[in-house]
Amino acid sequence: MKSPRGYWWTTASTTRRTARPVIIATSPAPSPASIAPIAPSLSGPDGSIVCSERTVPYDLLVLALGSITNDFGTPGVAQHCHTLNDADGAQALNRTLITRAMAVELGTQARLSIAIVGGGATGVELAAEIHHVIGELRHYGAKVVGEQLDIAVIDAADRLLSTGTAEMSARAAQTREQRGVRVILNRRVTEAREDVLVFDNGDTLAADIKVWASGIKGASACITDALPAGKRGQFPADATLRSIDDPNIFLLGDCAGCTDANGHPVPSTAQAARQQAITLAASIGLLLVGKPPLPFVYRDRGTLVSLGKAKAVGSVAAFWRADRVHAVDGAAAKGMYASLYRLHQAAVLGWPRTLAVIAADTVSRAAKPSVKFY
Ligand SMILES: Cc1cc2nc3c(=O)[nH]c(=O)nc-3n(C[C@H](O)[C@H](O)[C@H](O)COP(=O)(O)OP(=O)(O)OC[C@H]3O[C@@H](n4cnc5c(N)ncnc54)[C@H](O)[C@@H]3O)c2cc1C
Repeated sequence: MKSPRGYWWTTASTTRRTARPVIIATSPAPSPASIAPIAPSLSGPDGSIVCSERTVPYDLLVLALGSITNDFGTPGVAQHCHTLNDADGAQALNRTLITRAMAVELGTQARLSIAIVGGGATGVELAAEIHHVIGELRHYGAKVVGEQLDIAVIDAADRLLSTGTAEMSARAAQTREQRGVRVILNRRVTEAREDVLVFDNGDTLAADIKVWASGIKGASACITDALPAGKRGQFPADATLRSIDDPNIFLLGDCAGCTDANGHPVPSTAQAARQQAITLAASIGLLLVGKPPLPFVYRDRGTLVSLGKAKAVGSVAAFWRADRVHAVDGAAAKGMYASLYRLHQAAVLGWPRTLAVIAADTVSRAAKPSVKFY
């Protein structure tokens, strides 16, 4: 089914996810400019319909569809690699990791080799987290797997965290190597097979678990017959975040392809999405009273990457001067990393509920196992 403009929202997967497009009707107009069709909401293991197809009239539409994994058409990635784009993907990886670790403990498998394709923040943090999880398994009686673990992080660039500073890259590589993680640089993966990754020079790397953490593209593919998508599957927008193809549509986050009002490209990060949301909320208020939307200016507040339970590395802009960037490292950086998460929760939930969540998390950490076994 198509709307007058031909947009069609679908559930992004056939699992329990429900379709919830971000739709803002700016006024109770009797004859709205457009209608957004929404696919049925499915639930339960049998995919039963909770809410059937429906339409939402709108004058102004905000699309914040996020992104999906980009395998750049690399053969075998969809079949043989885990991805981390959503909770389902992360849970599937966790289950495979625990199952394979048990196989090593029970002696049905000699070693556990894990290859992570992509040495950006996601790949580096994942290597740290897997190392930590396998270490924690010792407390549950797993004595062997920690000694038989081989984690490799592969990147086509000549350093890890290639979009960060050289200092961050060096610190990340040093910490990975100290923990026995192999770092393979200047190598492009051209194919994933059941048990190996194939490199551009024909070499192969055997891996029981392969994770593709190498790129994203805008989630434009989740809408069929949609707005024309541009580079990296993102919908092109101008510096006010307005679609260049439809003046009634605004875009934010990973699905928006735009440069800011100063001509700087906007990265696909939560930091940028949050800033865009704040600008857009103000712009919608202005549009309602017939004024033009605000230009979006991206302010890079810095980057923090977790390197383990007690360490992180990054560069952070000074609060008083955004152009003055400070390198941060070690436990102090980890403290900042943890507080950023809490600040984000506070922005979404407010401080009273965030404090309640912090208290609940503290109790739950003491009561629950430190590794998720399901
Ligand atoms: C593993 C991982 C780690 C990351 N770590 C960081 C980090 O440390 N710092 C950082 O700044 N960024 C990080 N990012 C990036 C960050 O998560 C994204 O940039 C940010 O979430 C983008 O926000 P968004 O609102 O555009 O999209 P999302 O947060 O992805 O939200 C989009 C939502 O739209 C829904 N949706 C999609 N299509 C449809 C449809 N057709 N109908 C209805 N709903 C739909 C999706 O299900 C999703 O819930 C990370 C990303 C990943 C994958």
